[in-house]
Amino acid sequence: MVETKLAIHGGSKVKTTPFGTGKRFGFEEAKELLEALEQNTLFYHFGEKVKRFLSDFNAIYGVKHSVATSSGTAAIHVALGAAGITVGDEVITSPITDQGTLVGILYQNAIPVFADLEPNTYNLDPKSVEARISPRTKAIVVVHLAGNPCDMDAIMAIANKYNLKVIEDCAQSYLTKYKGRLAGTIGHYGCFSTNDFKHISTGDGGIVTVNSGEDEDFYRTHAFADKNYQRFGSQVVRELNSLAPNYRMTELQGAVGIAQLKKLGWICDKRREYGDRLTAGISGLPGIQPHKITDGAEGTYWFYMLRVDESKLTCTRDEFAQALAAEGIPASAGYIPQVVYMQPLFQKKQAYHGSHFPFELSDFSYDQGLCPVAEDILKTAIRLTINEFYTESDIEDMIQAVRKVAAYYGA
Ligand SMILES: *Cc1c(COP(=O)(O)O)cnc(C)c1O
Repeated sequence: MVETKLAIHGGSKVKTTPFGTGKRFGFEEAKELLEALEQNTLFYHFGEKVKRFLSDFNAIYGVKHSVATSSGTAAIHVALGAAGITVGDEVITSPITDQGTLVGILYQNAIPVFADLEPNTYNLDPKSVEARISPRTKAIVVVHLAGNPCDMDAIMAIANKYNLKVIEDCAQSYLTKYKGRLAGTIGHYGCFSTNDFKHISTGDGGIVTVNSGEDEDFYRTHAFADKNYQRFGSQVVRELNSLAPNYRMTELQGAVGIAQLKKLGWICDKRREYGDRLTAGISGLPGIQPHKITDGAEGTYWFYMLRVDESKLTCTRDEFAQALAAEGIPASAGYIPQVVYMQPLFQKKQAYHGSHFPFELSDFSYDQGLCPVAEDILKTAIRLTINEFYTESDIEDMIQAVRKVAAYYGA
């Protein structure tokens, strides 16, 4: 019998053993790094490591072309630049995301427009996306949040109807599948992050897939990440015909990335198994809404986020999260503190100090209540950690803890 007195009230904790841990980096990475140094160059165009990292990535993803970048934020900026997004364009995206989704939009002097989300997948609601389209709309940046893909059939149908570019932010969604296709290969460009907190890490770094498969598109994308240098084969053309930043990846990152990609399948399999198990274990509890994976999809759970329905519980969301934490289960209330459009940058319409550009080019406004479902998600969500080094019994303990707390407060 599991004790019913909550740990937060002095009962015994559900979790009595430490969570599984492990080393993310080992000799595989060290060997690649040594080889990179022995090349006597750390420049991607002269060395072989970034090239190999990309060709391995392309093989896993079944794409012809991709470009390495210095971060996930950079990858999204590069995709926007390659897509031709520019001054005064509107770009529709998600209000629950990392700010890295938004940086490139504003650097292109385009205007982020936020559409609302689906209540349990936490991803863009295609109906809301379509409702936000204006004559200025040029692109949609879909965020596949926490390893769960957006409803891409509906998104692509809207994009085709209005002739929009689709950029997939896959920073949290490695090997995530939508109806058998990998997230990141469905829109025009797919953007990945290898910062230290993602499924795989190169310290910092990113990748952009060029899904048209067209050489011209690839050249444009590649040059946009390398201050307009066009380096293809032995040919190097240094022609400045437009503005492009330097977002190059170094050989050190590429080297670590080669070794990390070999672990990616295992990491994602474990996370999928654990996340789906958690959902099965907590489904049907009154007042608890599990993290819903999009229909026809396979999630790879960068984190697990359930929602509580306070009208069916005798506690608040914060009390529920605290009770879980007291049981020994890391749990935090919400994800980001508030929807991104409530941040001062949008409230003051000030991306550049002392200027309201480019916001003054559009009449879109960032009022509270703009995306009511998204606002509600952040008020009622509880985020649990999923890690590939956890054991099956760790997951069972997480399930028991949620059940115990829900049973107590559901009464
Ligand atoms: C991490 C992340 C980014 C940014 O990636 P960086 O490598 O940190 O620049 C962008 N979008 C989402 C959804 C992310 O989680």
